[in-house]
Amino acid sequence: MEGSIGERFQKTLQQIEQARQRASRSTQPVKLVVVTKGHPVTAVEQAIRAGVRTLGENYVQEGVEKILAITGVEGLEWHMIGHVQSRKANLICEHFDWMQSLDSLKLAQRLNRFAGERGRIQPVLLECNVSGEESKFGWPAWDEQKWDGLLDAFEEIAASSNLQVRGLMTMPPFFDDPETARPYFRRLRRLQEFLARRLPQADWNELSMGMSADFEVAIEEGATIVRVGTAIMGVRPN
Ligand SMILES: *Cc1c(COP(=O)(O)O)cnc(C)c1O
Repeated sequence: MEGSIGERFQKTLQQIEQARQRASRSTQPVKLVVVTKGHPVTAVEQAIRAGVRTLGENYVQEGVEKILAITGVEGLEWHMIGHVQSRKANLICEHFDWMQSLDSLKLAQRLNRFAGERGRIQPVLLECNVSGEESKFGWPAWDEQKWDGLLDAFEEIAASSNLQVRGLMTMPPFFDDPETARPYFRRLRRLQEFLARRLPQADWNELSMGMSADFEVAIEEGATIVRVGTAIMGVRPN
């Protein structure tokens, strides 16, 4: 892979800006979460020296270890982006600024309780499965005729006083050709519009979609948060 982490970070920021300008509908800035799963603390520190402040991790234990190892840096923001068992909810509230992969009511209830005990409000995104792939976590959202079935749970989450719903997250199937992912990004945006109509009491503004292979297409389709690992950090060592 060409260049340093810093060069690839800057290049990705430029590509994000160009894609944002192509996307006529989006004037909102796009947040870049640099995904560091599978990379050692030294690599994360390199990214931080290059100016990265927003970091994403998939596994609770690995993420917490890095968060505790990296001290004395102002303004870091850590996002949990992987599936979390509800018994680990307390660690999310303790260590992560954002919970992007909220995929069950049980986890929401526990996050709400632990956030309350800590006197904090936990920003969350609801992870939705818009492809129907069984290997994917997330609320079942591939059949647009059945979106009504999501409303009771989402309403309860939106009413949780220590959770702050901010929008939706998805992980479409992996394709070599990013164009193939476009219909899934569009579906998540339609779901966002549906929820903004049906549950206007919550904030559905954020759409977290797009990874190394397809973040530009995701931004063209309205992503406000992209999660980029390999294109910046390089191939994961394990
Ligand atoms: C690993 C991962 C990413 C980043 O993937 P890359 O292809 O390395 O950019 C983004 N989101 C989630 C949920 C991931 O698990």
